[in-house]
Amino acid sequence: MSKRIVIALGGNALGKNLHEQMEAVQKTSKKIVALLKEGYEIALTHGNGPQVGLMLDCFDSYKINHDIDEFTMSVCVSITQGYIGYDLQNVMREEILNQGMNIPVSTVITQVIVDKDDPAFSNPTKPIGLFLSEQQAEKGRKKGEHVIMIEGEGYRQVVASPKPQHIVESETIKTLLDAGQLVIACGGGGIPVIEQGNHLKGVAAVIDKDFSSAKLAKLIHADYFVILTNVEKVSLNYHKPNQEAIDKMNCKQAEEYIKQGHFKKGSMLPKVQAAMQVVRENPKCKTLITSLDKLSDGLSGKTGTTIVP
Ligand code: ADP
Ligand code: MG
Repeated sequence: MSKRIVIALGGNALGKNLHEQMEAVQKTSKKIVALLKEGYEIALTHGNGPQVGLMLDCFDSYKINHDIDEFTMSVCVSITQGYIGYDLQNVMREEILNQGMNIPVSTVITQVIVDKDDPAFSNPTKPIGLFLSEQQAEKGRKKGEHVIMIEGEGYRQVVASPKPQHIVESETIKTLLDAGQLVIACGGGGIPVIEQGNHLKGVAAVIDKDFSSAKLAKLIHADYFVILTNVEKVSLNYHKPNQEAIDKMNCKQAEEYIKQGHFKKGSMLPKVQAAMQVVRENPKCKTLITSLDKLSDGLSGKTGTTIVP
């Protein structure tokens, strides 16, 4: 029986800085390698919100004293794919060896094609980087950045979040999985590019990792689609006195809950929508939204939220 699985790692599986990332990744590797031992073929994807913001800040500081070209968003995403991928593949390899297995691990720098006419480009919504002070927010606005105030949280820079149309390196990822290897791909949702004939041009955007992971699940014919985040289950009336965890919902119910505003834009909404997309395209694919700690229990149906067609 085929057990091909896409696992999307959320921010808490990676931490917010270099030190946190090393620790978080070690914990993550134990859970992932346990699944390899059970015979799962795994494609790991991950977010890069805090990391890509850090890169942008680094380049901004560097520019103060150096006359250099603008560092594009797509370059920043590629850097985060490289350095998060490095940490992951380094730690995963070690854990695989510790568990007495011999499975090669690699990171695929992944480009994801978006539509140049995607409406997202005229309506930036995706928060990146760290929280900003009022002063920093004002400074960003003066530079032409979009900065918004998130109720009860603070100021964040936001960029466009277009939908992924195709994953350029999907055949490479599939070939590695077919060969029984562990693959890390689509980091930070992938490097957003638009097609110009044979040329792929990087664009200023961040693709939601939940949507590119859903696209990957389709392209590699995944049997399971798992989103690991910092909640065990998706809830109705989240953070309200009448909060109620959801074990299972079908797409029709999910549509209804979305209309009622139960899932927050940019955080839980894309996860629910990504899982809906996966089961609509492949009704046999099993979906799961849960936390890293509950990964194993979630896969055996004991917890987490599953979305069915
Ligand atoms: P990730 O880095 O894993 O993508 P996000 O912060 O983007 O994490 O999304 C997960 C967060 O979504 C949870 O921590 C929770 O605060 C929030 N959230 C919003 N709406 C809901 C909901 N209805 N049920 C559960 N969590 C929700
Ligand atoms: Mg997120």
